[in-house]
Amino acid sequence: MRTKSSDRSCITGLVRRQAVRRRFEAALAASGALASMASSLPLFAFVQARPNVPTLSGDSEFDGERSFTDLKRLVSFGPRPPGSRALEQSREFIAGELHAAGATVALDSFTASTPLGSIPMTNLVAKIPGTSSAVVIIAGHYDTKRTNFPFVGANDGGSSAAFLLEMARVLARRKNSLSYWLVFFDGEEALQRWSNTDGLYGSRHFAQELSAQGTLNQVRALILVDMIGDAHLDIHRESHSTPWLNDIVFSAAQRLGYGQYFVTSPRAIEDDHASILELGVPAIDILDLDYGPFNLYWHTRYDTVDKCNPASLAIVARVVLATLAALETTLPSRPGGASQ
Ligand SMILES: [Zn+2]
Repeated sequence: MRTKSSDRSCITGLVRRQAVRRRFEAALAASGALASMASSLPLFAFVQARPNVPTLSGDSEFDGERSFTDLKRLVSFGPRPPGSRALEQSREFIAGELHAAGATVALDSFTASTPLGSIPMTNLVAKIPGTSSAVVIIAGHYDTKRTNFPFVGANDGGSSAAFLLEMARVLARRKNSLSYWLVFFDGEEALQRWSNTDGLYGSRHFAQELSAQGTLNQVRALILVDMIGDAHLDIHRESHSTPWLNDIVFSAAQRLGYGQYFVTSPRAIEDDHASILELGVPAIDILDLDYGPFNLYWHTRYDTVDKCNPASLAIVARVVLATLAALETTLPSRPGGASQ
């Protein structure tokens, strides 16, 4: 197991605050000196809130605008915590779009034991067969955090699901040597307080099923995306992720001229990829956890459509597609089985 409870660095409030403070201190240092604190604060907030992605150009197979339309549609259902009617509506919408794209869709339903009692949850799995039975999973979560204030999760929950939908359309209309599974995890968010047992419900269940059904040996890698719609895009190298996958993703980003959005300074983040890494399957988390000034939009009422941008989805998609191209040339011929 590569993640330990002591490693949790993004989800617990204490460590989050420490991380925010570190960024704050770094911003102060970068701006010159403590003496300039009063003037640097608004500047830092302004920079973090300002979109840093370019206007979209239409030369990619992944349609950022179409993906953004899906994001808005998901948000229109309202808050989407596990077990809610709005999440069921999201699921119906997602399944319908996947069918229309030509993918086979399976629902992986289960009952999760949570601090709030038993809650029905459902992962969606879209399969796009290639010429090889070797599988690469591209995954994200589609639930939103249960809160006592209005929270629509445009970025946190919306962007990953919208990204996967458009990626399914791209992969379904071309010939692939690898087989692809697009997996939409339910229950990523903690229902009460993040712990080993509260959070990552969908991916933990999915990992159990992979082992139980004997299909684990087919799965060669998992690429997880989370909060990749932020209009101010900055993705750090996640340090629990498999190093060779990180190398492929970050060198693809450099090659495409997206080095400013894929920064190589590491962050340790516990996310759905942890459940798959535990099985010995190589996995990477592509995630932007700097959301708004001082991370103000994360898990707050400010996580709305206007904080997201189609170009961010498209940039991440281009990097993921370049990564898949690299995997297509190497993975099908490699011996199967989970290994790092
Ligand atoms: Zn979240």
